[in-house]
Amino acid sequence: MNLIFLGPPGAGKGTHAQRMSIDLGIPHLSTGEMLRANIKAETELGKQAKGFIDAGELVPDQLVIDMLRERISQDDCKNGVIFDGFPRTVTQAQVLDTFVKIDHVINLEIPDEAIIDRMKGRRVCPKCGMTYHTSLLQGTTCTSCGTELIIREDDRPETVQARLVVYHEKTQPLIDYYQAAGILRNVDSVGTIDGVYENIQGALK
Ligand code: AMP
Repeated sequence: MNLIFLGPPGAGKGTHAQRMSIDLGIPHLSTGEMLRANIKAETELGKQAKGFIDAGELVPDQLVIDMLRERISQDDCKNGVIFDGFPRTVTQAQVLDTFVKIDHVINLEIPDEAIIDRMKGRRVCPKCGMTYHTSLLQGTTCTSCGTELIIREDDRPETVQARLVVYHEKTQPLIDYYQAAGILRNVDSVGTIDGVYENIQGALK
């Protein structure tokens, strides 16, 4: 089964995709995570992507598509994957349709004001990529690998605003795209993590 998690930054795509990946036993492919790993490793792709990411803009379609295509050709993806943060433009969605059949698109719905509030408390593990919220966190380290958590550069309030503008302009049109394809599942993403996750499971039945 191939699933897409769609929604604005901070809607909970990463959190729920991580959990669903464990439940379904299929890989969680986060293009944001893959790009950050490239930046950390100082690859050519990382160098090209860094400026866009730090400014809250989208990395050019072709760079992300090539990176994703390479990842999805690997053996562990043969029984399906969970896409998180991809596609983010109609062009990416059209190209994805040429090489993967998507079964469901989970569209996490949340108002901009709630996102801004949520992003203020977001912390991430620079080593394994787990995300946390300060309201649910005891201590300052990753519960999974013990690394000191950080605030992502692009989670700073000015950049979050820029990312929301980009989301509404470039990514929101995907809602109509997948609605027309009959595979869109809208899920209210305001609520507890467990409550939202249950709604997602319900939407997939
Ligand atoms: P994320 O971790 O999904 O919030 O992504 C962080 C940043 O990586 C985004 O703000 C974009 O700059 C970049 N990015 C991630 N996925 C994509 C994508 N599918 N297309 C273009 N840029 C992306």
